Amino acid sequence: MMKEILNYINGKWVKSNQSFIKKSPVNGAEIARVYEADKAMVDLAVEKAKEAFEGEWGSVSLAERCRLLRKVADIMERRSEELMLAESNDVGVPYAAAKMLNVGRSAFAFRMYADEAANLFEQSYHFSPPNGGQAIHYTLRQPKGVVGAISPWNVPLLLLVFKVAPALAMGNCVIAKPSEVTPQSATLLAEIIEEAGFPAGVFNLVHGFGANSAGAFLTENQDVSAFGFTGDTHTGEIIMQSAAKGVRDVCLELGGKNAGIVFSDANLDDAIAGTLRSAFTNCGQICYSTERMYVERSIFDEFVSRLGVAVSQMKIGAPDEEGIQMGPLVSHQHRDKVKSMIDKAAQDGATFVTGGGIPQFGDDRDQGAFIQPVVAIGLAEDADFVRKEVFGPVCHVTPFDSEEEVIKLSNNSRYGLASSIWTQNFSRAHRVAAKIRAGNVWINDWQLRELRTPMGGVGASGIGAQGGRVSLEFFSDLINVTARI
Ligand code: NAD
Repeated sequence: MMKEILNYINGKWVKSNQSFIKKSPVNGAEIARVYEADKAMVDLAVEKAKEAFEGEWGSVSLAERCRLLRKVADIMERRSEELMLAESNDVGVPYAAAKMLNVGRSAFAFRMYADEAANLFEQSYHFSPPNGGQAIHYTLRQPKGVVGAISPWNVPLLLLVFKVAPALAMGNCVIAKPSEVTPQSATLLAEIIEEAGFPAGVFNLVHGFGANSAGAFLTENQDVSAFGFTGDTHTGEIIMQSAAKGVRDVCLELGGKNAGIVFSDANLDDAIAGTLRSAFTNCGQICYSTERMYVERSIFDEFVSRLGVAVSQMKIGAPDEEGIQMGPLVSHQHRDKVKSMIDKAAQDGATFVTGGGIPQFGDDRDQGAFIQPVVAIGLAEDADFVRKEVFGPVCHVTPFDSEEEVIKLSNNSRYGLASSIWTQNFSRAHRVAAKIRAGNVWINDWQLRELRTPMGGVGASGIGAQGGRVSLEFFSDLINVTARI
């Protein structure tokens, strides 16, 4: 029987009158029926969350909240196989990657947020007022109340956890709205939070789409005081507009068109292996993916030919196949979008070093959303393929001649999310890093992540950051108390 995915509201699992079918990206099979929350259900979730916040949850101590968070991490580890399968079935990501990144890091994040919340510092000042006497000032952090967590489909569990864990740690009640494309792991997370013993109403889960559906119903509800959102830049604009009514807070992690830079003195083996990861991990569906590479002219031909060979040898297949490096794209709809951008690149004059077609397997994977990874060269900087986020396994490589030129090329984007710099000249690495307009810059690596560090974007890539203390600060209001003594 097909799996049924329900909403979780005020500690109860609820169906609705509308539902939609989730299909496998691996073979197109129908894998789940998802019950879409209507407006009344979303409003009920918010109402019950508000009641929980004003009731029992509001007086639960920080130590107890941290204990509950750690319990979630323990249960996640115990149920890691289930979570891994849910994530892999929804996204098509290879098992090994799902286990390590999607699930392992999510459990780690719950523990990290418990540790960081327990150690969050406050400010305190001693002051001599001009009219005499003494005063002390100190800050408090209070939860914002009911907050929304709206997440995308590319790394579904982790990107939801980055919002839910700090929000709960700071004492908020949460309404989670995962992507309609990947509903399964969020539903397991709700089960785990329930099992950990959070009171009813503290965590709620509503399924559905964006416009005219659960996403919009959530952002329109004036009792939700802040939104942690990861997704497309255009959706971020819509959420920000909605949040403007009532002056509600947003933390937006949005799209990117990330550049990698390889100088001629780089360790080429590392730079090629790094680019293979940075452009093709998760089938290129990582917001930090480097879809634009700039390579110093003297090593350009060698870099392109070696990267092309490495990419053409990548093992593509179903997530449970041995030694698999790349699964399918997340959906057939997304493959149509990626394919049309690849076809447009061909029309615009790109040379394909490798890839660009649809692989044929001769079995049920031919009904999946697979695509051949692309290495392309030859496009002008104003081509769509070089300017717009593809969010697929593509990498366009352009030669450059000087440090100044490559900084300009790299920064020539409305986005500013991530960059990788490959060089063995450390003075240059740090000099260039300081001039790159991106929220995250890696030197001789990519996506090397310590979860306590702030990760955010500049420009059209977002507002605010996620990670450790900054997320705890986002999900709380800063209050100053002044006392005359
Ligand atoms: P999306 O914007 O289409 O959807 C994200 C979430 O927003 C989903 O849950 C969706 O249902 C919801 N949503 C859509 N319209 C809404 C509306 N009007 N009101 C409220 N909610 C709405 O993004 P996606 O396609 O799921 O994810 C891919 C995008 O996410 C890419 O652009 C990628 O770069 C970006 N992303 C960014 C980061 C980051 O950290 N900066 C990380 C991962 C993904």
